[in-house]
Amino acid sequence: MTPNVSFEFFPPNTPEGAVKLRATRAALAEAAPEFFSVTYGAGGATRDKTLAVVEEIAAEGRAVAPHLSCIGATRESLRELLELYRGHGIRRLVALRGDLPSGMVDHGDFRYASELVEFVRAETGDWFRIEVAAYPEMHPQARTPAEDLQAFVAKVRAGADSAITQYFFNADAFFRFRDDALAAGVDVPIVPGIMPITNFTQLARFSESCGAELPRWVRVRLASFGDDREAIRAFGFEVVADLCRRLVAGGVPALHFYTLNQAQPSLDLWQAAR
Ligand SMILES: Cc1cc2nc3c(=O)[nH]c(=O)nc-3n(C[C@H](O)[C@H](O)[C@H](O)COP(=O)(O)OP(=O)(O)OC[C@H]3O[C@@H](n4cnc5c(N)ncnc54)[C@H](O)[C@@H]3O)c2cc1C
Repeated sequence: MTPNVSFEFFPPNTPEGAVKLRATRAALAEAAPEFFSVTYGAGGATRDKTLAVVEEIAAEGRAVAPHLSCIGATRESLRELLELYRGHGIRRLVALRGDLPSGMVDHGDFRYASELVEFVRAETGDWFRIEVAAYPEMHPQARTPAEDLQAFVAKVRAGADSAITQYFFNADAFFRFRDDALAAGVDVPIVPGIMPITNFTQLARFSESCGAELPRWVRVRLASFGDDREAIRAFGFEVVADLCRRLVAGGVPALHFYTLNQAQPSLDLWQAAR
């Protein structure tokens, strides 16, 4: 069975970025995605920009899932945002804790994403389909994989409908996490998050901070290409297309692409994976 697909964007910072994102969306719409999602800066840093993109996508008649992070937020500010989204007919959310921006010390009313899920359910009942984050290679702040799995189970028990994972390049890590979650009594769909490889320096930096492992053999090859962006893209495509094929063969319900607001790398991978 062909899995579903979804695409994630970040809210652009400039008018040119907004124009480019419209073209990206139009290109990705050809893949008939289940939904587009839009990230949200923790502490409310991108609140208005996220809202603007979400409203634009909703106005185009496309399904959109705003990300919502609770760190640094109050119940009141989240209640207001939930009402706005409801008013726009939005039925899906990606509920996250987020990471406190440097310099910000006030954690706000919530400590963990599980509390946000509980709050959204208490406030809005079954209006929203709630996605949460999952970490096949363990969240970087967790003490042990077992504790991190328990944190994931808590989010599902609090009312999450499905999960999207942090990106990874090791299919076995995903399959083991899925098995462990099932053994812990969690049978909600777990959708792998896919990061296309297009820029080695950026990817190495990202992976370091979010705890996603860039395998040594991939890293040394990418590093050996230096500034040759074509070689990086071509090799990166092979690695990630192979990962996507393994995941699809392993029965994943969908693939969720971290597009970084570019259409072609995700589209090519999606086509190669089916
Ligand atoms: C699909 C996806 C989309 C994302 N989108 C965004 C975004 O738009 N904006 C953004 O800022 N960030 C985003 N992130 C990053 C995310 O916010 C960070 O990874 C953040 O550090 C953790 O968020 P969480 O929702 O997984 O937190 P949680 O599930 O709350 O977990 C955070 C940490 O706390 C631990 N923990 C949880 N509950 C407990 C407990 N009861 N007791 C002790 N420890 C506990 C967990 O093991 C983990 O180490 C995204 C991540 C993913 C995978």
